Amino acid sequence: MKKQMTCEEVQKNIPDFIDTRMDSKESVAFIRHVRNCKACMEELSVEYLVVVGVKRLDSASAFNLNQELEELIDQNEQKARQKRQISLAIFVAAILLAVVGGYFLSGVFR
Ligand SMILES: [Zn+2]
Repeated sequence: MKKQMTCEEVQKNIPDFIDTRMDSKESVAFIRHVRNCKACMEELSVEYLVVVGVKRLDSASAFNLNQELEELIDQNEQKARQKRQISLAIFVAAILLAVVGGYFLSGVFR
């Protein structure tokens, strides 16, 4: 998987993104692209409004779709980051353990 997505790839993947069917590496590249590319962000907004808006034409919440799109992007971003956060948590726990363990041992052998 390439790190950079072209506009064409991003726009082809918009339906997957909206349905959150994208894998985490892809969604990182996707989000990075739409955050920096006005054309693709606009395309994403339009498709999102169409896909989600049509499902709830009868609902008042359809007016909040731009906000929801932002949330969807954040959600995808968080999901993609979770793996990294887990390994960071293990790393921090290991350091804490080493520090606490070291403190404990230095107390024992004083
Ligand atoms: Zn683009």
